[in-house]
Amino acid sequence: MFVADAHCDTLYSIAIQHGDPAACAVTPERLAQGGVGVQTFAMFAGGQDAVKRAHQNALDMLAARDSLGVPLYLDALPDTPPETPHGVLSIEGGEILEGSLERLNEFDEAARIRMIALTWNFENQIGFPAKGGSAKGLKPFGIRLLGEMDRRGILPDCSHLNEAGFWDVVEHAALPPIASHSNLKKLCGHSRNLTDEQVKAVIARGGFIGINFYSCFLRDEGAATLEDVFRHIDGIAQLGGIDVLGFGSDFDGIDAWPEGLGDPTGFPALLALLEKHGYGRADIEKIAGLNLWNLLKRAERIRTA
Ligand SMILES: [Zn+2]
Repeated sequence: MFVADAHCDTLYSIAIQHGDPAACAVTPERLAQGGVGVQTFAMFAGGQDAVKRAHQNALDMLAARDSLGVPLYLDALPDTPPETPHGVLSIEGGEILEGSLERLNEFDEAARIRMIALTWNFENQIGFPAKGGSAKGLKPFGIRLLGEMDRRGILPDCSHLNEAGFWDVVEHAALPPIASHSNLKKLCGHSRNLTDEQVKAVIARGGFIGINFYSCFLRDEGAATLEDVFRHIDGIAQLGGIDVLGFGSDFDGIDAWPEGLGDPTGFPALLALLEKHGYGRADIEKIAGLNLWNLLKRAERIRTA
């Protein structure tokens, strides 16, 4: 079954952290074993000192992209989902753009950016993070950026964004809001998870939510299990989200996960669990990868730049 994953930090690990593709959770072999046809590789701004290094980090990741060992779609996607692993690129942490639309254009022309997480965990030129709980919305550059992202068919990723920023995205972006790697707040209270109202807004606009496999996004206390992943999937499905659900594993960016779900080879067991809980094949295919695929195709079609 075709699987797609909306977020991992593998490129950051290779280009900025340790330089060893074989030490990553996401490898070409494991992607193939897990049935992953499309893996989104984030160009992550970086944590400490991010403001100074973010743009250079992204350039370094762009330069290191071939070391991922999977072919990347740097132009249009094919008509149908691939049967072997491929990658697409995203930006995580809009400080990479340094407050300049020109930067966005450079990255998009070089490598076709599919989505941008507008903030990481720090305030930047675009807005404010979920972490810290600021009540302020997007800044003027953030609003302008959304217009350019619409033109280029780049999805606004609200996974690290605060709630006021999220509602500004809903109001100002023509493309639907997505959360590439966030879960359901009523099941786990982490500040990066989504309220029911946010989930409903994503559903109403036909966006996307990628379930994150990081334990502290899955349950408030104790070790998370595959059943916890199912609870979040099912919780969003019960809000009417069967057409916006998918995965945002966060592989290579996390240090705790449900047993058996530490790398892409865990996807088949997770999909089997959905079947065990009574999900039909068509719904499982949507969650596994078709929802993300269809949205990426939709974003490409509205691209006018
Ligand atoms: Zn993240």
